[in-house]
Amino acid sequence: KTRKIAIDGVASSGKSTIGKILAERLNYEFIDSGFLYRLATLIALEKDLKKGEYSLAVTDFNVDIKDGKIFLDGDEVPLTKLRDKNIDALVSPVSEDSTVREVITKELQRISEEKNVVMVGRDIGSVVLPDAFLKIFLTATLEERASRRFKELILQGVNTTFEEVYENLKMRDIIDSSRSVAPLTIPKDAYVIDTTNLKIDEVITLIMEFIRG
Ligand code: C5P
Repeated sequence: KTRKIAIDGVASSGKSTIGKILAERLNYEFIDSGFLYRLATLIALEKDLKKGEYSLAVTDFNVDIKDGKIFLDGDEVPLTKLRDKNIDALVSPVSEDSTVREVITKELQRISEEKNVVMVGRDIGSVVLPDAFLKIFLTATLEERASRRFKELILQGVNTTFEEVYENLKMRDIIDSSRSVAPLTIPKDAYVIDTTNLKIDEVITLIMEFIRG
């Protein structure tokens, strides 16, 4: 049986940064489930799908995740393409579709049966990996999250404003928390960490303490 750690939380709360470091320390595979929802959204944009048609984005969804890379029909999809602004704007509406969620959830569960994983997302501890031996829920103030994400985007040379980033995170949190299927919630047995005033290595130290018990 494989070992699983679930990390959930609001947008830009540090899930990927923390999850990646943790996976490296433990020699587990790091799986960022958000990328699969972003990939479905990229397909929806390419197929010009409208609301109500998003399930068509995941028919023949032949995806694989290896060493942090994402492959669609065997071809690597650049992660920068998946973090694009157009995708940020549409990913939460696409993720409300129950068929999209069903297909991606099965895919994530299949991957986690093959190897030990640190998986990050919105519904990992609650729906995808309810039997994870450790569940973490990350939060931080909207202001702090927007400021971290804004700095990151500017470093990547993306043309955006603090307000645009702030509004996108706020919009996604609202849709992600209020949708009818697998809404963002704190799993009963999760440790909640507010990272607003914590450095990355302080969060890692906390989580390593939870693992040691
Ligand atoms: O984690 P990230 O911000 O990349 O996720 C993008 C979007 O994908 C989220 O805002 C949410 O709508 C959706 N998502 C989800 N369930 C997950 C992971 C992501 O609904 N497990």
